[in-house]
Order: sequence, then C-alpha cells, then structure tokens
Amino acid sequence: MRIGFGYDSHRLVEGRRLILGGVELPFEKGLLGHSDGDVLLHAIMDAVIGALGMGDIGRHFPDTDPRWKDASSLAMLKQVVGLAHAGGFAVSWVDCTVVAEAPKIAPHAERMKEAIASSGIPAEAINIKAKTNEGMGFTGRGEGIAAYAVCLLTKVA
Ligand code: MG
Repeated sequence: MRIGFGYDSHRLVEGRRLILGGVELPFEKGLLGHSDGDVLLHAIMDAVIGALGMGDIGRHFPDTDPRWKDASSLAMLKQVVGLAHAGGFAVSWVDCTVVAEAPKIAPHAERMKEAIASSGIPAEAINIKAKTNEGMGFTGRGEGIAAYAVCLLTKVA
C-alpha cells in the first residue's frame, strides 16, 4: 500500500466560473489558475502523484505549457489515475477537505464525487469534507479556497 498527501490553494477572482471537484458551482467569483483552477482536484492529483513517488503536479502539467491553459482538471486527474493504474495500483481511498468561507460545499459533494468518479477513482472510495476557516486568514477572508487530500493506493497487479 502507498499513501499520498496533497495540498493546493487558488485565489478567488471575479469574471471566472467556479469549478470545484469537477463541477461548476453557482458563485460570484471563480478560482484563478493556468488550468480551470480546480483546487480540490489539484490536491487529489498531488496526493495520487505523491503516493506514486512521481514528484508533483507541476512536473506532470507545467503551467508554462500552453496545453494546460484553461485545461479541464478532470482530464488531468484522469491522466494521473491512469499513471496509478499503469503502475499496477488501484486508488482505494481518497479523503479530502475543502477550506472555503463560501460557497457551501456539502450540497454539491455527491455531484463532485460522481464527477471525480469519471477519472477512474470509484465514487464509493471518495469522501469530501468542507470547513470554513472561521474568518481567519486568506480562506477566511474569502480571498481564496484551499484543499487538502490524502489517498491510499493498493497494489493490485
Ligand atoms: Mg493548483
């Protein structure tokens, strides 16, 4: 078995759609990023890449590469899960926490799990939690959203 940990944060800005957990959420701001800025999927990707011992998301999807400009993070996650499968690993569990003052994440968590499942991680192996930061720091002030993820990979082949 292998465990991996991932963290990411992105700035909230006006004029961008909010893509989080592979779905669009109704909100007045969106996450700034070279890709779609999906901070939750980026944390999950870094957890899986970490468990594989293959560096980090920046090594696989450099933000200097125009291919990943406005790219779907879900498509990137699919590639990362493909690396795990190619290495003979199943993604057995993913647990994550989104830190956001707004919007509320819980009403969308099931929809996010279904979207993430299209990457090859089973929906029943994903848990999504959310917290505010009690008004403290950049997340608390609504300047950005952060996400943490851990994953368990199991060798199956
Ligand atoms: Mg990121």
